[in-house]
Amino acid sequence: MSIAMSLPRFAAAFAIVLLSSATAEASAPLQKTQAPGYYRMVLGDFEITALSDGTFPMEVGKLLTHITPQQLEAALGRSFLKDPVETSVNGFLINTGAKLILVDTGAGTFFGPTLGKLLSNLKASGYQPEQVDEIYITHMHGDHVGGLLTDGKPAFANATVRASQAEADYWLSKAHMDAAPADRKDGYQSAMAALNPYVAAGKFKPFRGDVELAPGIRAVAAPGHTAGHSLYVIESKGETLVLWGDVMHVAAAQFPDPSVIIRFDTDSAAALLQRKKVFADAAEHGYWLGGAHLQFPGIGHLRSAGTGYLYVPANYSAMH
Ligand SMILES: [Zn+2]
Repeated sequence: MSIAMSLPRFAAAFAIVLLSSATAEASAPLQKTQAPGYYRMVLGDFEITALSDGTFPMEVGKLLTHITPQQLEAALGRSFLKDPVETSVNGFLINTGAKLILVDTGAGTFFGPTLGKLLSNLKASGYQPEQVDEIYITHMHGDHVGGLLTDGKPAFANATVRASQAEADYWLSKAHMDAAPADRKDGYQSAMAALNPYVAAGKFKPFRGDVELAPGIRAVAAPGHTAGHSLYVIESKGETLVLWGDVMHVAAAQFPDPSVIIRFDTDSAAALLQRKKVFADAAEHGYWLGGAHLQFPGIGHLRSAGTGYLYVPANYSAMH
């Protein structure tokens, strides 16, 4: 075919492409919404549903220590991120077949409009808040307990809330709050606001030490991030998922170098020991892990990589 013959055809075809793409833009506006924030996986006989509470911009340069600005920029760059880092807040719903148990509740109204979506995502995932039997709290920071409330009342009408006694003693104490510096009082206020309606209703049952809370689910004390920070170990048919709460916050920096510390930790030395211990254990045993601030759905595995670790997010499962 000669160029002279093909040009008119080319021009005609080009015009059609232009016309059809213009039509497509007009008839299909951008949706500007994300997929529903839940992700499901099977763990033995249990069904785990990761629930997104949303994301927030974390100003990691102001919050991380034991890392230079240059090292942080390089670490973020390796993960194709910039400061501030869009950071997930996740909760996890466990259906054991006998009980429906929620681990952490998201921020509710405590952290503004980009968070507080856990309840709507729980509903989108096929459950109702009234069906939740128990709620296990890793610790009482606002982004983990704020979702206990809807309009100041318990959002989970039939649930009993569990957390460690050490955590309750720290955050629910008016004497502690009165003794705290002015810029630290809001943490106590938000914990009390979230928990006290359950305490008043006789629906808060703290536990002591490492204890089985339901068949296949046990609490493990991991103090440091807060005084009574707890991990929850879920086991069914030889499969294990460790929900590690706030053992880490910034994957891009803290997996390659677990000694990087965040200012949120109440006792940073103890938190560092926990992080090293929990990371080493996860890499050695190869079980599932779930993190409150890992990129949603926050479920994956860890393996050793040089002097640090590499996080491997869960392979997508369609659950046929
Ligand atoms: Zn948190």
